[in-house]
Amino acid sequence: MNANEIIEIENQHAAGTYAKQALVIVRGQGALLFDADGVEYLDCAAGHGVANLGHAHPKIAEALYKQANTLITLFESFPNDQRAMVMQKLTSLVDGLDRVFLCNSGTESVEAAFKFSRLSTGRKNIVAAMRAFHGRTYGSLSATYNKKYREGFEPLVPGFSHVAYNNIEALEKAVDEETAAVILEVVQGEGGVYPASAEYIQAARRICDERGALLIVDEIQTGFGRTGKMFAIEHFGVTPDLLCCAKSLAGGVPMGAVLIGKRIKNLVPGVHGSTFGGNPLSCAAANAALNVIAEEDLVGQAAAKGKYLMEKLSAIQSPNIREVRGLGLMIGIEMKQKVAPYVKALQEKHIIALNAGMTVIRLLPPLVITYEQIDRLVEALSEVLSRTEDEGQ
Ligand SMILES: *Cc1c(COP(=O)(O)O)cnc(C)c1O
Repeated sequence: MNANEIIEIENQHAAGTYAKQALVIVRGQGALLFDADGVEYLDCAAGHGVANLGHAHPKIAEALYKQANTLITLFESFPNDQRAMVMQKLTSLVDGLDRVFLCNSGTESVEAAFKFSRLSTGRKNIVAAMRAFHGRTYGSLSATYNKKYREGFEPLVPGFSHVAYNNIEALEKAVDEETAAVILEVVQGEGGVYPASAEYIQAARRICDERGALLIVDEIQTGFGRTGKMFAIEHFGVTPDLLCCAKSLAGGVPMGAVLIGKRIKNLVPGVHGSTFGGNPLSCAAANAALNVIAEEDLVGQAAAKGKYLMEKLSAIQSPNIREVRGLGLMIGIEMKQKVAPYVKALQEKHIIALNAGMTVIRLLPPLVITYEQIDRLVEALSEVLSRTEDEGQ
C-alpha cells in the first residue's frame, strides 16, 4: 500500500470524526516520527501528551513482548503480579491516595470519578470549570465546557455546572451542600494551556472541605512528568480526593486510572467495573513506563527542558505573539491571529505541533526531546511566528 492509497482508504472508510492530515506516519523513534518515505518529523504533540517517553521506547517494547507471551488478558476478579505491581507503584506516587481503579482511557477515568463521587456523597451535582475538557462520553462531556464538543448531543447528564477558572469567588458561590464534587484540570489543556494559580487550587481544596464536597483533579494531560512534577498538583501542595490519569500512564499503550482517597466510601463489589481494566498487558507496559520515568529522571528533565524552551520562546520578538505560558513541557503560545496557518507552516518545516482553540499553539513534546531538537523547534518557530499574512503563511 503506498501513501496515497492509505490516505484514500482512510478518507473513504473512517467514520469522518477526524480532520485528517495528508501525511502517513508509519514509524517513530524518541521524539521523531517518520512518514512512508522515511522523511523525518519532530513530534511536538506526542499524541496530545501520550508519548511522554518518546516513540518505540525499547523498555516498553520489551515489556509488551514478554507479557504478550505470558498473559494478555485477565479480569480483575483474579489478582495478578503485573496488576499488583502497578497498583503499588501508582498509590505510592501521591500521599493519601491509597486505592486505584484501573480502566482504559481518560474519559473512563473521569466517568469512574463522577460515579464514585455521587456514590460516596449521596449528592448529585458536579461543578466544573469554563474552558474545561474532560472527555467525550456522556458524563465527561457534561463536564466539558466548549459547545463545539457538546452540540448535537443534548440532553447531557443533569447536575453539571461551570464556573470561571482561576476565580475563587465563583467557586465559593457554586459549591454548596448539594455538590458531590468539583473537577479541575491543574493546567487546562484543550482549553488553551492555562495553568491554575496556587491560590485557586488551594482554595478549591478548602471550599470542598468546608462544604463536604470531593475534589477531583484531571491529570490526564498533565500527569507523569509533563509539567516538571510527577503530577501537576504537586506544584501546589494539595491532595485531591480523586486523581484521574491516562494518556502517558502506560508508555503509549491504552490505559487509565483513578487514584482514590480515604474519603471515598461505598466502593463495594459490583458498583463499577471494566472488562479490559487492569489487564496484565497494559499493566506490564505501565510498570515499564513508571520505571523508565524514574530511571531517566523524566520529571527532572521536563522541568529543565521546559525552562529552557520557555526562555527561548520568550526571547522571540514577534508582534504576532500575545503571550507564552505553561508549566514544564506543556506550553501554549497565544497569538493575535488564528493559529491554523502557523501549525500548517510548522508542519511544512517538519514539525508537528497542536493548536488549543483558535489562537493558541500548544507544544507537548515527548519528555525525551533533546536540547538540539528543542533548538530546532525554536528556530522554526521564530521564523514562522514572525511571518505576516502577506508573506504567505
Ligand atoms: C485527553 C484528555 C481527556 C480524555 O481522554 P481520552 O483518553 O481521550 O478519553 C480528559 N481530560 C483531559 C484533561 C485530557 O487531556
